[in-house]
Amino acid sequence: MPVRTWLAAAACVLLLVPAVPHQADAVPVKKDRYYYESRGDVIWEVKTNHPLIALTFDDGPDPKQTNQILDLLKQYEARCTFFVVGKRVEAFPDTALRIVKEGHEIANHTYNHTYFQNSSAQQIQTELKRTEEAIRKATGQHSVLFRPPGGMFNERLVATANGMGLKPILWSWHQDTRDWVRPGVWQITNKVLRNAHNGDIVLFHDHVDGKTQTITALETILPELHRRGFRFVTVSELMKDSVSRTPPSLTPPPFPSSAPN
Ligand SMILES: [Zn+2]
Repeated sequence: MPVRTWLAAAACVLLLVPAVPHQADAVPVKKDRYYYESRGDVIWEVKTNHPLIALTFDDGPDPKQTNQILDLLKQYEARCTFFVVGKRVEAFPDTALRIVKEGHEIANHTYNHTYFQNSSAQQIQTELKRTEEAIRKATGQHSVLFRPPGGMFNERLVATANGMGLKPILWSWHQDTRDWVRPGVWQITNKVLRNAHNGDIVLFHDHVDGKTQTITALETILPELHRRGFRFVTVSELMKDSVSRTPPSLTPPPFPSSAPN
């Protein structure tokens, strides 16, 4: 090989070397649903072989709506999960106590319904602790689950909540009823019944501004799912029945995480 050609070839090799990625230059891990779900750090739904479904209710307790929902759940021996707002637990402790007495799970949904995207770990801890104190005072229990308002999560929030023994729980992307915008009873009913699968976590609200449509929808949803053989269990019960960590759904949610969840 002539010297000039050899030099040119060597220069090419040298130019190419930096293009080979080193370990430190590897593409950073994308901390998305797949990342957190595969580690079990956040739960969206549960893989189970049994016809179990977890209905969840956010933003209560509400002395009227929560009690009407509890009346209805009793008829179907449904055990559900209520993600409560701490300041509302302080305002309506009797309703919070009824949730627990009737066999449902009570869980943390922050004290002020705070959206945490820019909060420090300390601010997150304060909100969650105040809520736990309110729950304990009203019911004698503490919760083990936490749902971030708006479904917002980031690394700090996930780490802080898990560090406090509060597992972040979101919901099945195909089971976001958006009942809080009152889209119509049929929309809520159809969303749940068309998509119901084993291990789903369904998102409802038991404190809706204006005339709630959730209760009328439940009057159809509960008997129909019961007829199909589903058992209504709490999120903690559902998690105990998990056969493995859930693979991520291939379809993204139809809407971005919406504010008032
Ligand atoms: Zn909420």
